[in-house]
Amino acid sequence: MKKLFPKKQRPIKKLLLAGAGHAHIGLLRRLARKRLDTLQEVEVSVITEHPQTIYSGMLPGWMASHYKRSEISIDIAALCRRAGVMLIQRPIIAVDADTQTVITVKNAKDAKNAKDERFDYELLSLNTGADTDMTWLNTDGLVNEDLIDKDLADKNLKNTVIPVRPIFNFVEQWQQILKQAEQVSDYKVAVVGAGAAATELVMAAQFALQQINPSHQAYLVCGEQLLSGFDAGFRSRVIKQLQRRNIEIIYERAKGLAGGKLATSKQTLAADATIAATGVMGSAWAAQTNLETVDKGFIAVNDKQQSTSHDNVFAVGDVASRVDREMAHSGVHAVFGGKVEADNLLAYLVGDKLKSYRPKNRTLYLLACGDKYAIGSWGNFSAQGCWIWYLKRYIDKRFVNAK
Ligand SMILES: Cc1cc2nc3c(=O)[nH]c(=O)nc-3n(C[C@H](O)[C@H](O)[C@H](O)COP(=O)(O)OP(=O)(O)OC[C@H]3O[C@@H](n4cnc5c(N)ncnc54)[C@H](O)[C@@H]3O)c2cc1C
Repeated sequence: MKKLFPKKQRPIKKLLLAGAGHAHIGLLRRLARKRLDTLQEVEVSVITEHPQTIYSGMLPGWMASHYKRSEISIDIAALCRRAGVMLIQRPIIAVDADTQTVITVKNAKDAKNAKDERFDYELLSLNTGADTDMTWLNTDGLVNEDLIDKDLADKNLKNTVIPVRPIFNFVEQWQQILKQAEQVSDYKVAVVGAGAAATELVMAAQFALQQINPSHQAYLVCGEQLLSGFDAGFRSRVIKQLQRRNIEIIYERAKGLAGGKLATSKQTLAADATIAATGVMGSAWAAQTNLETVDKGFIAVNDKQQSTSHDNVFAVGDVASRVDREMAHSGVHAVFGGKVEADNLLAYLVGDKLKSYRPKNRTLYLLACGDKYAIGSWGNFSAQGCWIWYLKRYIDKRFVNAK
């Protein structure tokens, strides 16, 4: 019988990796170590916005000056070179899964010359992360969308909420906060959020601000409950550490910001800068796609991390939501789910059976407290100390520096 695709005429398949998150970093490292037979006739490209990915787990440590920026960055351009993969450095603005095209912008920073550019694919993997959920700002119509500005290099921080994501922008804005704090004798930073990221950020902010001036202050606005998904023992340890660092915890919902005043459900608070770590929502491009989405704009995937609407699209990490089970958006699932997703991409190319990603029941969470001290949680077990901070540093550095 005649083969459908005799070897010489077999069409070159195009595998497009969108975003350089944890999962794609893992796959690129695998390719850099060893060329995979499955990919011999496959053209692999990465489209990502920045030539580096900043590792979120070390971001609070960088804010507190324990790390240099280079120590928390993964060089995607160098990794692509080592992996023999083409890097297309562009922001993705849309995905048309019916025509199998990813739409990007060329010269995005130069409004006059910016133009859409399309890249087609036969197999697409999405690992673009997510945006900070800023929907809380609109609850009472107190603040309009203009305040959510991701490109505010020269703007007055008093009138702008700074989302922690995209992290690349946050890093620039944090440096601006420090510059402003150096110029005054009393500076206040509000952190809005109730999860582990918000508590790490407020402790890092307090540590950094007090190095500049002991009267500077960071505080946390967390709504009714702090760390609601965590074990009670862990939560109480975190609250004690916040108190020990004189960080006020305000159990009220933040609603808006105007003229340096952060409005909550009960009062207005002075804030020279306001940082939001208020959970995640789908990135802007996910509003411009015909892939099936769920919740707040996440790509709907099954247990194989495969799009529920388009077989040849896989998605993993914060960009995706599983339809078969509840799963938090976290770096742990981006890494472990990413390994399974990468295997499934390779299996899909040759028509092999796909695997299911079954997350472990318990995951290790290490929460940095600003100084070189951390709290760890593993299911119902929790512990704290300087040694946990060094353990976290070891694990984080191993991830960032892996070959
Ligand atoms: C302060 C902080 C601390 C955290 N600590 C932990 C922790 O200790 N443990 C844990 O499990 N989780 C932690 N998290 C959560 C964790 O950061 C995320 O769940 C994780 O980063 C998601 O990884 P990802 O691979 O999906 O995407 P990301 O790591 O966000 O990577 C996305 C990539 O896609 C690129 N990209 C994004 N949009 C576009 C676009 N439109 N076009 C092109 N490229 C794009 C980005 O530049 C980036 O390279 C923390 C979060 C924060 C904010």
